[in-house]
Amino acid sequence: MFLKVLAFDDVLLRPLYSEVISRSDIDLSLDIKTGMSMRMPVFAAPMDTIMNSKMATVMWQSGGRGVMHRYCSIEEQADHIKNAQPAEVFAAVGITGDYLDRAFALVDAGAVGICVDVAHGHHITAIQAIRNLRDNHPDIHIMAGNVATLEAFNDLSDAGADSIRVGIGGGSICSTRIKTGHGVPTFQSVLECARSDRDTLLVADGGIKNTGDMVKALAAGADAVMIGSMLAGTRETPGNVITVPGGAPRKVYRGMASPEAQVEWHGKYSSNEGVSRTVILKGSATEVLFDIDRGIRSGLSYSGAKNVRTLQSKADFIIQSSSGAKESSTHIDF
Ligand code: IMP
Repeated sequence: MFLKVLAFDDVLLRPLYSEVISRSDIDLSLDIKTGMSMRMPVFAAPMDTIMNSKMATVMWQSGGRGVMHRYCSIEEQADHIKNAQPAEVFAAVGITGDYLDRAFALVDAGAVGICVDVAHGHHITAIQAIRNLRDNHPDIHIMAGNVATLEAFNDLSDAGADSIRVGIGGGSICSTRIKTGHGVPTFQSVLECARSDRDTLLVADGGIKNTGDMVKALAAGADAVMIGSMLAGTRETPGNVITVPGGAPRKVYRGMASPEAQVEWHGKYSSNEGVSRTVILKGSATEVLFDIDRGIRSGLSYSGAKNVRTLQSKADFIIQSSSGAKESSTHIDF
């Protein structure tokens, strides 16, 4: 028997009677117990073509948070955190090798959250790493992941995670489903993990293409979302601008499990579950994040909700047909 599952594009939210007069009446704040609450529930992904100290600062100024990637030396990663002061920044670690030393150095450098960053988080080594980090850092916010199922969400939560990245195989630069045959549409994983009775924040991660997907994720039970491709190509991202004769300027956006990223950081590649692409330069991340903030607020207003909790309780999802999905995207001929 096969379970029928849903992706973001399979669903829509029915518009509901609204008494939201202005977008500024909407409260998107999220308490992450780091000292300050987020004004916008959006994290930037720990990827080497997305995160640096500039992006960390911009994320924080916009009300979200950046997660500094771990593909560099401990000293370099700690410097990125220091250079982003006073911004609140999260920082990623792996689950083997020097991850405990790395976490100590990152916390010393001012990181307010440690992200246990692995492709398949429902794994004995990841769970042991979360436990070790929790024992060594009782008060720091621990983000963990990635997971796709309720059982995984509960196991990571019980190991000590304060927030969990939910989504396997959905990332725009991800080839996990093609290479391994495994994964679950991110929207479905959010629906499933939101049934957890644990007091752990759910971060929808992978495949979020626009603010509509963000609103759907939040309505389905996510507390926050994590994005890569929506920030890719912005001025603040690391990497050089690539000029193509007669074409628009571009920047690289790549999966951290792509051969290109692995060869750069480890000199060789062991897994190949991501791709490297170039994307057209798209201006400032500040503007992108401003648009995201407006889009999410408009989304809540269509459900007559002044905060995310109300959105979740009122959300009225419908499944759309493929012709409905076609109508849902802009479709003017040119
Ligand atoms: P996007 O927002 O759809 O571009 O997805 C970003 C997410 O993709 C990240 O937060 C990670 O969870 C995931 N990701 C990053 N690199 C890779 C990779 O190489 N393979 C698979 N997933 C990846």
